[in-house]
Amino acid sequence: MLSLMSEPTETRRERAARRAGEFPPAPEPLPRPVLDSHTHLDITVSEAGVPGGGPSDDPVATAITVAAEVGVDRLVQVGVDVASSRWGADVADRYPAVLATVALHPNEAPRLADLDEALREIESLAARDRVRGIGETGMDFFRTGDEGRAAQETSFRAHIAIAKRHDKALVIHDRDAHADVLRILDDEGAPDTVVLHCFSGDAEFARECVRRGYLLSFAGTVTFGSAAALRAAAALTPLDQILVETDAPYLTPIPHRGRPNASYLIPLTVRFLAATTGSDLDELCAAISATGDRAFGPW
Ligand SMILES: [Zn+2]
Ligand SMILES: [Zn+2]
Repeated sequence: MLSLMSEPTETRRERAARRAGEFPPAPEPLPRPVLDSHTHLDITVSEAGVPGGGPSDDPVATAITVAAEVGVDRLVQVGVDVASSRWGADVADRYPAVLATVALHPNEAPRLADLDEALREIESLAARDRVRGIGETGMDFFRTGDEGRAAQETSFRAHIAIAKRHDKALVIHDRDAHADVLRILDDEGAPDTVVLHCFSGDAEFARECVRRGYLLSFAGTVTFGSAAALRAAAALTPLDQILVETDAPYLTPIPHRGRPNASYLIPLTVRFLAATTGSDLDELCAAISATGDRAFGPW
């Protein structure tokens, strides 16, 4: 009891904030602007509230402003079903800092009553100018069992075809499915730009992806204590194939793991990556920014 009482106030406050699910304080700004290559503004606002905290008439505008204040001046809003894809495409039309990607999430696709109809909707959204990617699509053997795998693969193949037809980036969700993701991409023929979102492989898988010219997008997971293999993967990835993302509201980087995530926390991941890969922070920011523009831009 005594030792508990003597803990620093800061620590107790941190713990209370985490319990309350409050957004963490803003980190030190980056020296050069970067983007958040993968975020879910709709889920963030509905599940965690206004990024940066405080009331707002326009949570999306607030999320953009608090991110820009620390050097995160562009973001990619990612769709997971028809409704969120349409929402993202509309948001990208309204806010110059936002571009959208559209897709049926690999855990969503097997649950749809009419996959073909949903894919037609995605294809019509894919044609819009500020929709610059098809994703997140891919394979997830963690949440989808054997019974859903055939539909998941059918959906993934259809999304690859849509990306190629519309010449948009392909944004891949890969959970416990590295070999199958590569097999299907090799079989279909990959589009010019492939992004592995929330890259989760080891050095060997990273080498395979780098060799194919894919982009590896690192999330807050790279900062987690248990992620030594992921850090080894980041260390061997060329600077011009690295992206960073929040996957907000999930995967908040250390030291705020467990609290809600948003684009303004990207500097924590970028600084961590610079230290891990032994890169100059300025140079890493410039490389990420250029890669983001190449993959999705111009904004
Ligand atoms: Zn994902
Ligand atoms: Zn996501």
